[in-house]
Amino acid sequence: MRVCVVEPELRPGGYLAGFKRKKFLFDSAIHWLNQCGPGGFVHKVFGHIGLDHPVAPPLQRIRRMKCGDMDYLLTDQPDAMREALCKDFPGSAPGLHKLFDKARQIGDRMSRYSEFNRAFETRNLFGKAFAGMRLALWGLPFARIYKKTAVEGLTEFGLERELLDLWCSEIDILSVLVPLGWAYYGDYQAPPEGGSMAYPRWLVEKIEAAGSTVLLRHRVEEILVKDGLATGVRTHKDAVIEADYVLAACDLETVYEKMLPKGMVPDELLGKLRNADLYPSSVTVSLGLDCPASDLGFGQEMIFLSEPGHDRQAYSDGDPNIAGISVLAPTERDSTMAPEGKGTLTVYCSATMKQDWKLGPNNERTPEYKAAKKAFAEVLLKRVETELAPGLPDHVEIMDVATPVTHWRYTHNRGGSIMAAKPNKANMQAKVAHYRTVLPNMFLSGHWAEYGGGVPIAVKAAANASLLVMKAAKQPGFSELARVMDEPDVRGRYRPGTKAITG
Ligand SMILES: Cc1cc2nc3c(=O)[nH]c(=O)nc-3n(C[C@H](O)[C@H](O)[C@H](O)COP(=O)(O)OP(=O)(O)OC[C@H]3O[C@@H](n4cnc5c(N)ncnc54)[C@H](O)[C@@H]3O)c2cc1C
Repeated sequence: MRVCVVEPELRPGGYLAGFKRKKFLFDSAIHWLNQCGPGGFVHKVFGHIGLDHPVAPPLQRIRRMKCGDMDYLLTDQPDAMREALCKDFPGSAPGLHKLFDKARQIGDRMSRYSEFNRAFETRNLFGKAFAGMRLALWGLPFARIYKKTAVEGLTEFGLERELLDLWCSEIDILSVLVPLGWAYYGDYQAPPEGGSMAYPRWLVEKIEAAGSTVLLRHRVEEILVKDGLATGVRTHKDAVIEADYVLAACDLETVYEKMLPKGMVPDELLGKLRNADLYPSSVTVSLGLDCPASDLGFGQEMIFLSEPGHDRQAYSDGDPNIAGISVLAPTERDSTMAPEGKGTLTVYCSATMKQDWKLGPNNERTPEYKAAKKAFAEVLLKRVETELAPGLPDHVEIMDVATPVTHWRYTHNRGGSIMAAKPNKANMQAKVAHYRTVLPNMFLSGHWAEYGGGVPIAVKAAANASLLVMKAAKQPGFSELARVMDEPDVRGRYRPGTKAITG
């Protein structure tokens, strides 16, 4: 089908677009990827588009967790971390074995989730019943634990009180188990060479090679509607693009409240969207260093830095003195991101747009805003210097600070949310994420159409939205893509050391 992608920025890709400062390249979002390795869902869908897709290499050293005096490394051999913990906390050893066994079981399920990515709406009645049954069986290991908080879960596994602090920022037990589970199945990848921007660049090439168009520097202002059908879009430069189908892959509230005619979307649904529980935004400090990051002690792994003793929620509420900080050295994974002999460092923590960012009355950036973001970054960097890298400031050549305001300005996600709606019960009951809209030929896509966010979810949403359009348009491409999405994965394909399949 002929497609026109409309994008307000000069560089397409939203959170994957990345940016360049002097000769340093930075990812604007990605810390690690899942499902992008062989057997993963993203790999499957991208392989359907072209075998020359960017390759996301597997990560061996995944996450170092440094909380107070505790310092442990999760690798693609999670048993090594379990043994290190058992040695330091012998009283918790039986509990740790139970915890890591459960994580392995959860990881096994997650590694098969790629078979369940087709949305129910894309299936016929029999397909829905069959898929529903399989999904229920798949979800059995989650049944007894998914409602438990991290404290409840870890205590029930039998971990000592002191050890609970290692996961001090996690709210629910699944947030502890799922990352360990991914590690068991080797489902962690680094961004492809050149950073996450390699994906949108490749996709644009494919779109244009297929005779379709990417229209840059045009922001959709209005979805045109006639006789109960979407007929196209109008951009802020007054360009009108007529279309048989419209897909909206951007902030949902903006689509429903600003782009569609007033009164078209029921107030009840608008109310539910306004009250949805969303992922927060972030402050991301990107540093260009005058030396390789390894000289300062950084490796391939992401480091999560926290201090015990705070309320769990406080770690993601945006106080730079308390926030859990993720520190990553992208050049230790991909040296092409910096000039030779230099390195990059990304320092990240959760933050919200509701904090006082000293904006002007119409959310414009003021000198006070610039000072506020610099002050915020300085607190984060001081903590990183003290805990991890003495002398860090002496090596900083350039620094870029992105706040929730930056995330919102560049992508228009509400509040600069990094991943849209959380996959929790309240959001699911309110049906916050969905594909079908009030117009039969308009669908949602991107991370707002699903729960949980991230690259795999955005790709899942894109594939399902494409299926819905092709189904409605009776296109043969429907069954081709559906077959690819339904393909069962060979278990264990994610295991470390598996080579990526490329053209
Ligand atoms: C700091 C940070 C860290 C993250 N870490 C990870 C990670 O480690 N791993 C992971 O998998 N995911 C991570 N994510 C999440 C991931 O980046 C997103 O979930 C994913 O990229 C969402 O893709 P999307 O295309 O749905 O939306 P977006 O990337 O938000 O793109 C939305 C697009 O819509 C465009 N748009 C907006 N308004 C309009 C309009 N009016 N007209 C036309 N176009 C419009 C925007 O310009 C943009 O291009 C992170 C995100 C952030 C911000």
